[in-house]
Amino acid sequence: MSELLGTGVGRGVAHGPVLRMADPLGEPSTAPLEGSADDAKQAVHDALAVVADDLNKRGQLAGGDAQAVLEAQALMAQDPTLLDDVHARIDGGTNPERAVFEAFGQFRDLLVGMGGYMGERAADLDDVAQRIVAKLRGVPAPGVPESDTPFVLVARDLAPADTALLDLDKVLALVTRDGGPTSHTAILARAKGITAIVGVTGADALVDGTHVVVDAAAGTVVTDPSAELVADVDQRIAERLAAAAAPLTAGALADGHTVPLLANLGSPADAAGAVALGAEGVGLFRTEFLFLDAPQAPTVEQQTESYRQLLEAFPGKKVVVRALDAGADKPLPFLTDKDEENPALGRRGLRALRNKEQVLRDQLTALAQADAATEADLWVMAPMVADAEETEYFVGLARELGIRTAGVMAEVPSLALMAEQVFANADFVSIGTNDLTQYTMAADRMLGTVASYQDPWHPAVLRLVAQLGAAGADAGKAVGICGEAAADPLLAVVLVGLGATTLSMTPAALADVRAELGKHTLDQAREMAKAALAASTAAAAKTAAAAAHAA
Ligand code: PEP
Ligand code: MG
Repeated sequence: MSELLGTGVGRGVAHGPVLRMADPLGEPSTAPLEGSADDAKQAVHDALAVVADDLNKRGQLAGGDAQAVLEAQALMAQDPTLLDDVHARIDGGTNPERAVFEAFGQFRDLLVGMGGYMGERAADLDDVAQRIVAKLRGVPAPGVPESDTPFVLVARDLAPADTALLDLDKVLALVTRDGGPTSHTAILARAKGITAIVGVTGADALVDGTHVVVDAAAGTVVTDPSAELVADVDQRIAERLAAAAAPLTAGALADGHTVPLLANLGSPADAAGAVALGAEGVGLFRTEFLFLDAPQAPTVEQQTESYRQLLEAFPGKKVVVRALDAGADKPLPFLTDKDEENPALGRRGLRALRNKEQVLRDQLTALAQADAATEADLWVMAPMVADAEETEYFVGLARELGIRTAGVMAEVPSLALMAEQVFANADFVSIGTNDLTQYTMAADRMLGTVASYQDPWHPAVLRLVAQLGAAGADAGKAVGICGEAAADPLLAVVLVGLGATTLSMTPAALADVRAELGKHTLDQAREMAKAALAASTAAAAKTAAAAAHAA
């Protein structure tokens, strides 16, 4: 047995044989054509046909949106203009691999130049070109390998499209060499409920067929595990399946103290899935995800329609919508400054909205209109709020424009330190532990080299949560958690012990958190929180909390 370390995503555990994803192909050589041009053209023709056929077949298997994407790719592989270009290059003495690479590359640049929807197809075209070159070269195509039996997928990193298309019946777990806890791979893996570990040092050395245990909670990949370890893992898998199959009861501690379990969503289309997993409402609706591609600010009408769809999915339930959180890793062309050196510390979130107040006014107006037309209990909050003055500004504007319940996110330590003054105006506070950790620890959450700092178990982060919890209780107001920390079952209990009144998470995490809450009373949760607060490091806080009340 040997152990590799990385950053676990979610709580899953799995074991099975490794299957590696082929690495991207190197650029084809510029060596001149050998042999006849006709033979080379025939080879390209055959490769194109196989690739197109393969894409169509994969599309039929996947169905839905994926089928449309893959069939469009198959058409690209057979585009006559591109084929003419490849032929012309071969006639000019270029070898077939290079001819495909150059012809597709030129077309790709054209698409990128067009921007918008066409520009976004460039990555699909690159993928097709890689597949054709692989066929000509006689090596496996890059991308997720195919297998009749389940496997642990090992890759350098996955493109978001690869992650989104993963077949959950086949992929037992995902191990990547690159990526941090908040990389796209990690976010999509969490949303799909895939057991995953990213940023694994030594992942490159894992070879096909090796039996591994992937333990996301521990952040470890164990090769050639002992029979005892495998038995233990099977037991844990059975427990998780039982939690997933348990009745969708309302979130509550063992003594009946209720803790509503809410969903983090980025699109109204995800609402039904969240309800099916027992979400009692929405604790964070990330509105900026609706407009990431929009060159201009969306109109009031467009927005009202989206918010109406969302609210209609939750009649009588609480839905917390966040005002546009533009900036840093989520730039919106109509809100963000392009040339900031440190965008995470720049004019993002409420700062960007205040700078373009009409965008904020339109959004709040659209939200108030959607609220008036539906039965949900709408709450609205601002992101990246620094202090009580900014809170007063946002809450005042929201009330002026017809929002009944207005609050702020606690993501910047200064806001937590001013908690009492903040609650004087805000109806509620929701703690964004992702950014609160990033700013408390001064470590970029997107940067793999400092990923170990991005740990919300750090007692410094927990102390800020405790301060917010106490101020919320004094004011008699709600303190939600909507960062990834709420999806860690043990930490979720600690957060309740620190004063959190609701927990919001990716819907795939609801079952595990619901099960863990039911194992502890409020007094025990408070003991666990006290033990974690007294620790010196994130790891010690976790150990201390677990020891304070072993369920
Ligand atoms: C957070 O920062 O914890 C949060 C919930 O917001 P986001 O992840 O969208 O920045
Ligand atoms: Mg945030």
